[in-house]
Amino acid sequence: MIIRDITAPNPGAFTLSGTRTYLLGESAVIDPGPAIDSHIEAVRNAMPRLTTILITHRHGDHAPAAVPLKRMTGARIVAPRGVFDDTLVDQRVSGGDTIPIEDESLEVIATPGHTAEHVCFLTSAGDLFTGDTVLGEGTTAIFPPDGSMRDYIASLRLLLAHNPKRILPAHGPTRDDAATLIEQYIAHRLERERQVFDALAGGATSAASMRQRIYPDLDPRLHGAAEIQIAAHLIKLVEDGRVIERGDSYAIQSAPQ
Ligand SMILES: [Zn+2]
Repeated sequence: MIIRDITAPNPGAFTLSGTRTYLLGESAVIDPGPAIDSHIEAVRNAMPRLTTILITHRHGDHAPAAVPLKRMTGARIVAPRGVFDDTLVDQRVSGGDTIPIEDESLEVIATPGHTAEHVCFLTSAGDLFTGDTVLGEGTTAIFPPDGSMRDYIASLRLLLAHNPKRILPAHGPTRDDAATLIEQYIAHRLERERQVFDALAGGATSAASMRQRIYPDLDPRLHGAAEIQIAAHLIKLVEDGRVIERGDSYAIQSAPQ
C-alpha cells in the first residue's frame, strides 16, 4: 500500500513542523488533523476516494478535520472511545482489533499514556503509526491525570513487543530505526524517573525544587511544562509504592520493616 502524508499548517512547540496526516492508498487517512480549511482541502484533493478516517486520539491537532471531511465525503470515522461522541463515530476500536484497508489489515494497539484513549495502528509490513505516543524527534508530553507515565512506559514496551520496522509519527520525521527509537524513549523516561527519585533523596520535596535540580538552565517559559512532567513521574513513583505523597510534598517510602 502506498503511504503518503500531508503536513498541516500548524507548527508549534508541541506540534513541531505541524501535524502529519497520513494517506493510506486511495481510501484512508490517519489523523486528519486540525480543522484548518487549506489542510482539509489538501486532504480532500489528494484523496478523491476517501472512505475511512482513522484517529489516534482526541487532541485538537489530530481529530477535528474528521468532521468536515466526513460531511463532504461520507467517509466513516473509526476511533477509540473518548474521541468525539458516539453520534459522530461509525466504529469504535480498541487494542487487538484489525481494520481492513484495501489490501492491508491494520492492527489497533491500545497505547494509553499521552492520553487515556490513545491507540496506534500497525501494518503487516511493520509500519507503525504512533500519533503522539512516539514522535519523530524530541519527547511527547504527559499531562496527568489524563496522561499517565506508568501507562505510557507500559505502552512503549507493548509497541516494542510488536516488532515495528518504521515509526510514522504525527509530528516530526519518519524513523526507520523503530526499535532503537522506542528503546531510547523508554530509557529516557527511566533516566528521568531516576533523577526525580535522586532529587527527592537529596532533599527536594516539591516539583519546583526538583525542576531546579534536574533542569537547572531551562528556559523559564518551559518551567511549568517541566514541572508537570516531574509531577507525572512522581505520580508513577507513588503508584509503584516507592514514594509517598504528603499534601504538596513528596517523600521516599521507607523500606518495610
Ligand atoms: Zn496529542
